[in-house]
Amino acid sequence: MSKIIEVRDLNKHFEVTSKMGLKTHLVKAVNGVSFNVSEGETLGLVGESGCGKTTTGKLILKLIKPTSGEIYLEGKDINKISSKEMRRIRKDIQVVFQNPYAALDPKMTISDILSEPLSIHKVVFKYDYEKEVKRLLSLVGLSTNDAQKFPHEFSGGQRQRIGIARAIATRPKFIICDEPVSALDVSVQSQILNLLNDLQKELKISYLFIAHGLNVIKHMSDKVGVMYLGKIVEMGAEEDIFNNPRHPYTKVLLASAPIPDPQVDRERQVIKGEVPSPISMPEGCTFHPRCEYAMEVCKKRAPVLLSIGNGHQVSCHLIEEKASEARSGAYDVSLV
Ligand code: SF4
Repeated sequence: MSKIIEVRDLNKHFEVTSKMGLKTHLVKAVNGVSFNVSEGETLGLVGESGCGKTTTGKLILKLIKPTSGEIYLEGKDINKISSKEMRRIRKDIQVVFQNPYAALDPKMTISDILSEPLSIHKVVFKYDYEKEVKRLLSLVGLSTNDAQKFPHEFSGGQRQRIGIARAIATRPKFIICDEPVSALDVSVQSQILNLLNDLQKELKISYLFIAHGLNVIKHMSDKVGVMYLGKIVEMGAEEDIFNNPRHPYTKVLLASAPIPDPQVDRERQVIKGEVPSPISMPEGCTFHPRCEYAMEVCKKRAPVLLSIGNGHQVSCHLIEEKASEARSGAYDVSLV
């Protein structure tokens, strides 16, 4: 499968001045993030609020500028190409927003909302707009008679379908889905997720799927990146992350998630402590104040993201230790 998006060592750091204006702090919202997404693949990004997953999405959309790092769309660095070429390829990267109530202009009809990207990106000739709008509405499971209605005439789930229709109007290769179901009733969430899955199969779109709900991430993702305070601490195939998590944060995140099955009786763990303030991040491994396995080295030195096979990567000193023991022949790191 060819790579659609490749992100290399992406950083977004902000300077924040204290209320009194006396001190400046550096906030590392995204701190050395790397991943790639292949054709027709979904990468799920998961983590607590403020971990940097939405900022990562904004950097790929070029809504904000990175401090450093590279973002490639089919091999082209989107931060180095000309604005003319960027205009041409902007249609290839689209977004579905979290809030379908705020994402649609209440004064525009659905036909106008869906015709706008067709016109901006010259997807079809003007005389084909009406036909194309109807095709888009059918693709997302809405009636073709809905074209002349306004957003307020639709439910939340239907509005999100319109948001998805607008995202696919430009025939993109890559869509960032930023918490696309978290503002919807539980009863319609699965319908929207299934729609996104069906469209992916039909149109071969790649997704970056951002969510804090693990069940949603599991349902949608081929591979998963777990973020904590701006870094990916674990990345791997969906089944490896959910069946065989290696990072202490991933383990406790999974153990603290609710199980949507009343037959399953399991005591939920609670993650110790609060996420530290991004303006005073802990030294070493930023998870160490909350980690039950923290060692002295964890307070001093940040672990590196280490490959342990099958595309599975973990950033933890426990894994580093086992890896060095494996190199000396004492362990097989894949069994750590
Ligand atoms: Fe815990 Fe240390 Fe691993 Fe960080 S590096 S997750 S503190 S064991």
